Amino acid sequence: MAFLSDIEIANQNKMLPITDIAKSIGIDEQSIDLYGRYKAKLDINELERMKDQPNGKLILVTAITPTAAGEGKTTTSVGLADALHEQGEKVVVALREPSLGPVFGVKGGAAGGGYSQVVPMEDINLHFTGDFHAIGAANNLLAAMIDNHIFHGNELGIDNRRITWKRVVDMNDRQLRYIVNGLNGKTNGVPREDGYDITVASEIMAILCLSSDLDDLKDRIRRIVIGYSYDGRAITAGDLKAEGAMTVLLKDAIRPNLVQTLAKTPAIIHGGPFANIAHGCNSVIATKLALKYADYVVTEAGFGADLGAEKFIDIKCRIAGIQPDAVVLVATIRALKLHGGVNKTELSKENVEAVVKGMPNLLKHIENIQEHYGLPLVVAINKFPTDTEEEIEAVKRACAAVGVEAILADVWAKGGKGGLELATKVKQIVDEANHFQFVYDDEDSIAEKLTKIASKIYGADGVDFTNEAKKELKVLTEMGFGKLPICVAKTQYSFSDNKELLCRPQGFHITVRNLKVSAGAGFIVAITGTMMTMPGLPKVPAAERIDINSNGEITGLF
Ligand code: ADP
Ligand code: MG
Repeated sequence: MAFLSDIEIANQNKMLPITDIAKSIGIDEQSIDLYGRYKAKLDINELERMKDQPNGKLILVTAITPTAAGEGKTTTSVGLADALHEQGEKVVVALREPSLGPVFGVKGGAAGGGYSQVVPMEDINLHFTGDFHAIGAANNLLAAMIDNHIFHGNELGIDNRRITWKRVVDMNDRQLRYIVNGLNGKTNGVPREDGYDITVASEIMAILCLSSDLDDLKDRIRRIVIGYSYDGRAITAGDLKAEGAMTVLLKDAIRPNLVQTLAKTPAIIHGGPFANIAHGCNSVIATKLALKYADYVVTEAGFGADLGAEKFIDIKCRIAGIQPDAVVLVATIRALKLHGGVNKTELSKENVEAVVKGMPNLLKHIENIQEHYGLPLVVAINKFPTDTEEEIEAVKRACAAVGVEAILADVWAKGGKGGLELATKVKQIVDEANHFQFVYDDEDSIAEKLTKIASKIYGADGVDFTNEAKKELKVLTEMGFGKLPICVAKTQYSFSDNKELLCRPQGFHITVRNLKVSAGAGFIVAITGTMMTMPGLPKVPAAERIDINSNGEITGLF
């Protein structure tokens, strides 16, 4: 059977005017700015207007330790929201905005897949409402002001060997990872080693996503540490008087975007921080607003539940003062087989034994959600065309053995209709006893916080710090950053910091190589392994397949 591509499915769909979608959740035309007929930005004062409305139920969609292809969190989020919508519920799905890097690279877009997509998918996957460009501009304005300050006499004494603020572009471009700039004589700047990150790795992205309003955004920007002076002082964006102009550049980017799913469910898509150097979920403003508009809000956290859900809870929920009512843990047969030892080229062949052998990975995530996050959950088996009955039954049985229900979600192939059973279960568990808790306390030291994450969530025996990390630990604590939450940058492919250790590794230590403060975002990044903040394109990038005809019709966008 041949399947239509995502863009073909999206092109066959007829969207409703976005004003109709807005109306369906009680947003009047005064509260939105139209970006064409199918996209809108919400007013910055919406949260204030809605503040007395009760909150809906918050459903967090997360996943088992993934394969490189992704296990379908976005697809399941959209499908579940559509299923709730189909059941007559008032629901909003809140998601991240895609980055151009993966769109033209390997992974592809991030607007869902099959019959569970948000639309207009080509816009959402490309420039959308310009938020990422604005974030890039704000980031690069600060970079320009740093080098300009040094050029004009360097009153602050910025050590140009210790500038941590990089320029950004929203593209996978390894050529820009390490550069030398300011070359060619006195009038052209002061030469230094520099480098680019991808826009989604910018601290501005994390800040935008954690800010509660424009004032908070400006305060956070002011606190950004851009590097150090010759005498070791932290230099901030505030020292450079950059926060006002940077906030001006972000005045529209801070406003959440309203679009729709193929099934006309309202979708708020806003912000898209990396899930390694940052916390990997859509903006706090978007989630809080969605909770005001709807009775059920479905949202996604990047990577597997050891990273995405942990950061959602310990960073986003802590900063925003919100908490999930239930968790949907997405599992796929192919990922379970990978954890069960099957070669990644053989994942589409039936292998019940390997599925069972891979279950300890799923069971550890279940244990974390129940015992360490204290939340009710349901497992959603995201059905792929190659899955067999026996494989699916094996997962259901293994989950039932620990008292958890696993439900087949066939939303990629069938849209919301393939997720009705999951939706019914979700509505039941959001009212179950909720013992929500953080993994660590604000008052714990940086090392204690890391030890709690590693031992409880990863199942590690301990945390080792390199000498460099030990030094940084001391410096950051002395600078007063010890109370901040921790953002672990770790491989998403293993509970450990070694991507080869699949399933449920045991008897391992996590090595923290370095620590870095994101003082504006308000967290400390603990770097394990090598951290990629500027990806590269593969040998045959998706860009080679993407095209447009004379009518403006796009092909090859997945
Ligand atoms: P995640 O959000 O977990 O990274 P996505 O929902 O973006 O995953 O899905 C990753 C890719 O897999 C997308 O290209 C999507 O279209 C595809 N996909 C997801 N679920 C299915 C499925 N059940 N069958 C086939 N392809 C799927
Ligand atoms: Mg996703």
